[in-house]
Amino acid sequence: MTKVLLTRPLPDRVRQAAQERFEVTERSSVLPMTQAEMIAALQEYDAVLPTLGDCFDAEVFAACPKIRCRILANFGVGFNHIDVAAATAAGLAVTNTPGAVTDATADTAITLMLMSARRASEGERLVRAGQWAGWHPTQLLGMHLGGKTVGIAGMGRIGQAIARRCHFGFGMKVAYFSRSPKELDFAAERFGSLPDLAGAVDVLMLAVPGGADTQHLVDADVLAAMRPSAYLVNIARGNVIDEAALIAALRTGQIAGAGLDVYEFEPKVPQALMELENVVLLPHIGTAALEVREEMGLMSIENLRAFFAGDPLPNPV
Ligand code: NAP
Repeated sequence: MTKVLLTRPLPDRVRQAAQERFEVTERSSVLPMTQAEMIAALQEYDAVLPTLGDCFDAEVFAACPKIRCRILANFGVGFNHIDVAAATAAGLAVTNTPGAVTDATADTAITLMLMSARRASEGERLVRAGQWAGWHPTQLLGMHLGGKTVGIAGMGRIGQAIARRCHFGFGMKVAYFSRSPKELDFAAERFGSLPDLAGAVDVLMLAVPGGADTQHLVDADVLAAMRPSAYLVNIARGNVIDEAALIAALRTGQIAGAGLDVYEFEPKVPQALMELENVVLLPHIGTAALEVREEMGLMSIENLRAFFAGDPLPNPV
């Protein structure tokens, strides 16, 4: 029977679906695999269902004298932790879970936009500290979102879902920066460069993939281009922002605030960020809803089923 490794505990429905078809081993740790575990897994299993943090880089493939594994069915749409070229050269297929994550991640982006622009974390800290003296007209004034402009870097599935929410839900104007123009059923202005977009918006949202191409896409120059009243939201990957430059921009008031779901050296969150009032910090919960994690898992299992049945892969990367 085909041997499959699930590299984290997964929702019951997903585990059961996997067990109906395959001989399944589920790793009990919630932490990413070590390099030694990944090297062993490639030699012991026919398929691995890896996820965020399982860093299948070229070194891991090179360290395996004989690879048994034929497919990495990633749990998640982002696959920047897998060196796809090295996996392909080693004869493995790689798949991901697009679509299943789109709405939930867009919702998280909106959560961060609201929490930062309306200073929700600051307000909650005030209440929890027992220091709230009562309502007054100038307390915790934030930025009203209606009529403002959102700028989206990376107008793909999630970027468009964020844009729809901003346009139809909040009456915001939409602008974007993407490699290719998009056909949209609502008005949206495309900018030719990220600094130009950054300078023209009230909220800048990041929804590009992680990886070498987008490393520090938001650097000191992009932050300098932003308005002092603007907010930055990142649900993409931590490496997309130069975190040191962001800390400097938040400290000096170069931008009004930020909302982050992901971090450059995740799960390390710099002390400097934790000490700042004008940043909202979430622990990478973009897709953290049971239904969504079930759909992601079932999509990964379907990729495995198709692969071993010799059918076309639903979600190759
Ligand atoms: P997608 O549909 O592939 O969209 C990515 C968009 O980014 C595309 O529009 C692409 O442009 C654009 N892009 C790629 N490289 C670029 C670059 N160098 N400069 C400018 N634009 C660039 O992917 P998705 O499903 O929306 O997911 C996006 C990312 O979100 C994932 O890769 C993942 O890292 C992250 N994510 C995070 C969470 C979380 O929990 N926080 C959850 C899910 C996903 P083109 O259209 O021109 O190709």
